[in-house]
Amino acid sequence: MKEYCPYCITFIPDGATVCRGCGAEKEISKTTTVTYSGTEALGLSIVVWLILSVLIYAITLFSIDFSTALFIAAAPAIIYGIFMSGHKEQQHKYAWVRYK
Ligand SMILES: [Zn+2]
Repeated sequence: MKEYCPYCITFIPDGATVCRGCGAEKEISKTTTVTYSGTEALGLSIVVWLILSVLIYAITLFSIDFSTALFIAAAPAIIYGIFMSGHKEQQHKYAWVRYK
């Protein structure tokens, strides 16, 4: 990524944090943002609904104990959780600051 100092338009090499031209410093702050779109929120509610349905269905139909039913019902939630974790993104925000 080509970058230039906002103060003196000196070219900043990759990974450099101080401008060679004017001594401005690059201040990096890491922020983790998790964004849920409308489709994802709908998907989440469907998953919750599915878990509850499967849980009740399994208990009534197969007369299995609650912990087994919970384990079976948790499987789609785990899969969805793995899918959702891919939507977490770390952004490296930075600003150039000149003290001198
Ligand atoms: Zn500069």
